Amino acid sequence: MKTSSVRFKSQLRHESEKCCLESCSNDDPEEEPPGKHSTSGDPEEEPPGKIAATRYRFFGDIPDDIWNDWKWQFRNRVTSVEQLAKFIPLSTKEQAQLRLVTMRYPLAVTPYYLSLINPDDPDDPIRKQAIPSTMEMTMGSIGAEDPLDEKKDTVVPGLVHRYPDRVLLVLTDICPVLCRHCTRKREWRNGGWVRSPAEVEAMLAYISQHKAVRDVIISGGDPLTLSTRHLEDIISRIREIRHIEIIRIGTRFPVVLPQRIDNELCSMLAKYGPIWLNTHFNHVREITPEAAEACDRLLRSGIPVNNQSVLLRGINDSVEAQAELCHGLLKIKVRPYYLFQCDEVQGTEHLRTPVEVGIKIIEGMRGHTSGLAIPTFVIDLPQGGGKVPLQPDYILAQNEGGLVLRNYEGRIFRYRTPTRLACPELPAEVLCPAGNATASPSQENRVPVRVRRSSKCG
Ligand code: SF4
Repeated sequence: MKTSSVRFKSQLRHESEKCCLESCSNDDPEEEPPGKHSTSGDPEEEPPGKIAATRYRFFGDIPDDIWNDWKWQFRNRVTSVEQLAKFIPLSTKEQAQLRLVTMRYPLAVTPYYLSLINPDDPDDPIRKQAIPSTMEMTMGSIGAEDPLDEKKDTVVPGLVHRYPDRVLLVLTDICPVLCRHCTRKREWRNGGWVRSPAEVEAMLAYISQHKAVRDVIISGGDPLTLSTRHLEDIISRIREIRHIEIIRIGTRFPVVLPQRIDNELCSMLAKYGPIWLNTHFNHVREITPEAAEACDRLLRSGIPVNNQSVLLRGINDSVEAQAELCHGLLKIKVRPYYLFQCDEVQGTEHLRTPVEVGIKIIEGMRGHTSGLAIPTFVIDLPQGGGKVPLQPDYILAQNEGGLVLRNYEGRIFRYRTPTRLACPELPAEVLCPAGNATASPSQENRVPVRVRRSSKCG
């Protein structure tokens, strides 16, 4: 892998503030507001290494055993603008504005994730994911509440059946952090629910009756907000269904509260494999020693970890930011799986990027780093159309004899396809798919060729 000599073709930084995946809520009242702890930093007291310096600035008097208790972290989430103002400089006017935003889109952030923010940088990429913005309201009428039309594919409460062989199980709307770019932001005002035993039974009955389903995705909200025992009750029941081959868990805990990935959870999950875990890192600064340890614990328990990031304006919308993120993920053995175009969700417009930005990023990475580091860029289509992968177009022309291709450096190559004699069973349109124009790409090319439409980035 040529990581040390990576040359990036395009740098697509955007100046204004700018966008994920699943949903959330605002439940437990704080028992011990973290804001009561010292906010005066003393660099001499900060230990060396990569542990977030702001942990010691904000939470220096919290002993490690309490800090590493995920339930303490969860109970002590910052959920009000007043609490937030103890950590992040906010004028009285800003506080009043954000209070209005949180009436529609609540705030919740764990002390751990908060400690990753540089409070002095208004453009901090972690801040933009967790701290409300007035643009959630000023641009709040743009987009849709449920752009993926998940309600349409909900077959029993909490169970979405869109693709023939997969179902999505939404067990709760509670999340440790309310990500400002969340696709299920509409759920936040429903106040924190967990599926009742009767609802879970109905979901399990549906899955048992539909033998084409081989893959169950457990999501939310974040399913790891449930206790390990509660999760085991449900996962063990899914595993009893004979036609279910794999179980997937969608969770952002490794990123926003990695202390949740403890030995008890990993030992439980290891009993019901194959289980795959998809998580959601968006920026290299989220790859902390704690996050790396959480992923390592999962991997050692036989649970592969993949990453699904969302392309977010001003957070990770450049080749450099994506390359740093993906290289960081590979270093902790997490596979960069998807890079999602931010969905058309109300309250996220300020975080969305033009689609061309994502294609340019993939183009800027392809050839310059290992293919293992390059996620698939996808749009999740509105109205439940499903995921569509997008990538730069490398085919310049093609005819029955072959293709004209460009490589990552822009150099042009001819590539010969097998002759019809070699593949008599293939129909002509497979050997020479239809294009939408004709032209000759070179002097040598005597036969008309069909030129494919190039993307704007091509
Ligand atoms: S963790 Fe996922 S589901 Fe929860 S708020 Fe963030 S993006 Fe939404």
